[in-house]
Amino acid sequence: MTDALFRPKGHDQVRGWLKHVIAAGKANGGYLFIGPDGIGKAALAREFAAALRCEKPVGGWSCGVCNECTRIAKDVHPSVRRFAKPEDKAAFPVELVREIVDEASRKRLEPGMRTFIVADADRFNDSSANAFLKTLEEPPGDLVFILLAENLAQVLPTILSRCQSVRFAPLPDDLVADVARGWEGLPVNPDSRAVLVRAAQGSPGRLRRMADANVLDTVREFLKFVRDDPFHASETLVGSVQGGDDNEAKRAMLREAIALLSAALRDRMLSSMGCADLKPLTRAIEGEPYSTDKLVASLTRLDDLRSSLDGNVNLKLCCDAIALAWPG
Ligand SMILES: [Zn+2]
Repeated sequence: MTDALFRPKGHDQVRGWLKHVIAAGKANGGYLFIGPDGIGKAALAREFAAALRCEKPVGGWSCGVCNECTRIAKDVHPSVRRFAKPEDKAAFPVELVREIVDEASRKRLEPGMRTFIVADADRFNDSSANAFLKTLEEPPGDLVFILLAENLAQVLPTILSRCQSVRFAPLPDDLVADVARGWEGLPVNPDSRAVLVRAAQGSPGRLRRMADANVLDTVREFLKFVRDDPFHASETLVGSVQGGDDNEAKRAMLREAIALLSAALRDRMLSSMGCADLKPLTRAIEGEPYSTDKLVASLTRLDDLRSSLDGNVNLKLCCDAIALAWPG
């Protein structure tokens, strides 16, 4: 029998701690999994949910092959539910929270522990948080909440204080590269591959997204023009996010492009101080007479632009701003 659960690599400490929680019979209430997008929080939440119901646990953890584990892995188990903010909403809607609260109070369909996995816990506003607090603080005894969040600073204190926080550290680059072995769509050239792995900052999911959106080629094209013709450089970025209606995906693509550009500028700064060898992407801007002050100013501006992408920013204007933020 093959293991039906997708088990993210790494996070052994988190897994070990959760195992301990189950062994001690203390799995109840709310947990907040915090860590970068695409690092495996949701998959590990599912492993945990399966471990709570597994028919034949192995070493105190989910076996991945029994009926319970298999149904949970396929997202068809009535006792393990997943909720997330709809993509077209900026905040977690209060109506959805009411649905969660209502379902939490309903009689269970099958005996055993229930797990509700709630993504986007950093996107609650005051009203949706208020509607959730009482249930989150005192859930029914057979229910575990696992909240997922990328950005700890954006989690409301009222939510944070009612959960046990569990931090997910970025994976080391070699482990990300290991996870990605055999993936299609990654650059064949080892240098280019290494650039992408590093830019993914410890998140295999992020690496997948960057590869799918072909961010590296877009950024290379941008770097060719940015110094002499920033508006043409901006057009290359705009071109890469044209077409389709999925604004969330376009913003994600621009966020990754900014991450790569910032990485190149940071490397450029380090190499000019003699602290590091030039990385492949940075060779494109080798020899440019950028002062440290200008590099720092550009990095700060790019950081601001990256944050502005969380709001409803005009993407074309954002691309222009990225090009104009480049050190001149
Ligand atoms: Zn099992």
